[in-house]
Amino acid sequence: MSERTLAIIKPDAVKKLAIGDILGRYEKAGLKPVAMKLLHMAKPVAEGFYAVHKARPFFDSLCTFMSSGPSVILVLQGDNAIKKNRDLMGATDPAKADKGTIRAAHGTNIEFNAVHGSDSPDTAQFEIGFFFPGMEIYDGR
Ligand code: ADP
Ligand code: MG
Repeated sequence: MSERTLAIIKPDAVKKLAIGDILGRYEKAGLKPVAMKLLHMAKPVAEGFYAVHKARPFFDSLCTFMSSGPSVILVLQGDNAIKKNRDLMGATDPAKADKGTIRAAHGTNIEFNAVHGSDSPDTAQFEIGFFFPGMEIYDGR
C-alpha cells in the first residue's frame, strides 16, 4: 500500500555533505520525494517537532542539535514507506545499526545519527503536517 513518511537529513549529515548519498538511497529503494526543503530550524521549532520526547533527559540537547544548522526535510512516498525508511535508516544508535544502513554509514553517535523517519502512520501524519501544507506536496508521479 502506498503511503507517505516524513524524513529528515539532520544537520550533522548536511554538514558532512551526505545529502546526495542519502537522497540516492531513498530513490533506489523506491521512496519518491514528493516534498522537500532545506530548513534551519529555530530551537522552538525543533522543540515542537520533538514534543513527544519532552520528558526525556536528552530533549534539550537534541533540540540544540536539530537547530544547529540546516536540515533537509522531505516527504517520501511509496509502498510501505514508513517501514521501508526505518529499515534504510537502521537502529537509533549508529553503533548498533546494521551494515549498509544510513546510520551505519553516516551517524556519529546515538544523538548525531544523520536521519529521522516517522515511526507510525499517526506520527507520519503529524510530522508531515508540521512541516508541509498540502499544496507543497506533489502527488501523481
Ligand atoms: P529514532 O530517531 O530512531 O526514532 P527516538 O525517537 O527514540 O529515535 O529519538 C529521537 C532522536 O533523539 C534520535 O534520533 C536521536 O537523535 C536522539 N536520541 C535518542 N536517544 C538518545 C539518547 N539516549 N541520547 C541522546 N540523544 C538521543
Ligand atoms: Mg522516533
